[in-house]
Amino acid sequence: MLNKIKIFFEDFVLKMYNKLFSSKYVIKGKCKKCGKCCRNILFSTKDGYVKSEDVFKKMQKKYRYYRNFRISGVIKDKMEFQNGALTFECKFISKNNKCLIYPIRPIFCRDYPNINSDLIYNGVEMLDDCGFYFDVDKKFSSYLK
Ligand code: SF4
Ligand code: SF4
Repeated sequence: MLNKIKIFFEDFVLKMYNKLFSSKYVIKGKCKKCGKCCRNILFSTKDGYVKSEDVFKKMQKKYRYYRNFRISGVIKDKMEFQNGALTFECKFISKNNKCLIYPIRPIFCRDYPNINSDLIYNGVEMLDDCGFYFDVDKKFSSYLK
């Protein structure tokens, strides 16, 4: 029991130290309005990324919200946990990459790409050719000064 408390405490101190003193990722750049992020959406359940049409159909039956999306492709040759994941396209993206419901688009569309450092450490990355990119707020060289 004492050992568990010690591990918990060490873990907590390490997390706090990292939060306060380690460098953080920041998002830089600007949107090129290519529409890729509206056509390459991943959904996940408690079992991981959605990889089957049947699972997606069940999600659509249960939650109306998922009826706004259709399958656009499948991920290949990525990390094991992503390989085979289906990608989805929003039905509100026009052929010329305009959002047809722009004034009332959902909150996560408004926030995109509001991604925190923890997600980046877990392997989240921007789509190829996206105008946004991740950078660190504190360069390695500044630690050496
Ligand atoms: S993928 Fe990036 S550049 Fe393209 S529309 Fe989305 S945010 Fe903008
Ligand atoms: S609602 Fe608009 S911004 Fe959001 S995914 Fe659909 S087309 Fe893109």
